[in-house]
Amino acid sequence: MTNATDHEQLTAATRAVALGRPERAPGAPVNVPVAFTSTYVADGEINYARTSNPTWEALEEVLGSLEGGSARVFGSGLAAVSAVISLVPIGGVVVAPQHAYNGTTGILGERSAAGALTVRTVPADDVEAIVTACAGADLLLLESPTNPMMEVTDVPAVLRELAERYGDRRPVVVCDNTFATPLVQQPLSWGADAVVHSATKYLAGHSDVLLGAVVVSPQRADLAARLHTHRTLHGAIPGPMEAWLVLRGIRTLSVRLERATASAREIAERLGEHPAVGRVRYPGFGAMLSIEVGSEETAEAVCARTRLWTHSTSLGGVESQIERRRRHPLEVPTVPVDLIRLSVGIEDVEDLWTDLDQALRSGVPVPAAPAGQASAATGPDERSV
Ligand SMILES: *Cc1c(COP(=O)(O)O)cnc(C)c1O
Repeated sequence: MTNATDHEQLTAATRAVALGRPERAPGAPVNVPVAFTSTYVADGEINYARTSNPTWEALEEVLGSLEGGSARVFGSGLAAVSAVISLVPIGGVVVAPQHAYNGTTGILGERSAAGALTVRTVPADDVEAIVTACAGADLLLLESPTNPMMEVTDVPAVLRELAERYGDRRPVVVCDNTFATPLVQQPLSWGADAVVHSATKYLAGHSDVLLGAVVVSPQRADLAARLHTHRTLHGAIPGPMEAWLVLRGIRTLSVRLERATASAREIAERLGEHPAVGRVRYPGFGAMLSIEVGSEETAEAVCARTRLWTHSTSLGGVESQIERRRRHPLEVPTVPVDLIRLSVGIEDVEDLWTDLDQALRSGVPVPAAPAGQASAATGPDERSV
């Protein structure tokens, strides 16, 4: 593998391309091979494929460099989140945003129902509430921006306040950096202990693979060792092909993100003036945004009428995606029923706008519910999904 120390002067966009490659030698391949093996010849550094794999290691080298820590890949983003939550002792306290990714809130809900831990939820954009809730807590899970409400946490302010108020007794701080990506923010550089990723999204970027990662601060080798043990013992591992696909995706992360972000900015601005759109949630960076369109029915109609935007869950691919989040029964109930999440891809921005605009304009108007009839809130989706 390439020597990362040679690359410290390079920008992140360049490191995403240059790292995680085999040593340069005449006739050597330029890409790491996909190592399909379950075991290794005895007396080497690795002996079994639940512990490590050379294709993972190439990806971990790149991700670790981009986030500024030590990376471990997992079978999915949720497997990575679950590994982080496993750090909390039985009976421990976790502080998490009210509108975190619904799989994250799902794990926390399940663990607390089982009596394994206590969860305190906080508004992601309220530094004072977050810091106050951290009294006696074991883990602070942040996600910024949040999925799908697009709330942004002032992570540096949270870390400063935590240090001031609790010193060494502050909780372990982990930030889900899926929406922003390490090209936009590196929470470890602000003092967070670890970062989690659903690499399924922007890092892979082509809607063809599931993979997760945790990147741990160089100051917390203890946490890295515990997460490594968790991965090995629980078998929360990705396949080598998946790791290779994510590594391939990361090579183009900076150009994909640059294009998608420019388009998202433009689309957010136009949506702000659109007669069919009530509220636009765009944090000013990245390629994700959410809009509110008045009713659940209108939101469903808009999603059904796009032709270029794909009506599907997930995000971060080259193809633009659209979805009403509350169609999922597990979505957090304070997410508005008419909220549509948009993942802006890399298609031409005018083509994207033309399609979105026609879908919004032909959306059914908000129906006035006649007396005695069910309201939009108990519409067909809640029963059918
Ligand atoms: C999708 C997502 C996850 C879960 O990742 P999977 O790869 O689907 O398991 C976690 N956090 C955020 C913010 C996500 O968007």
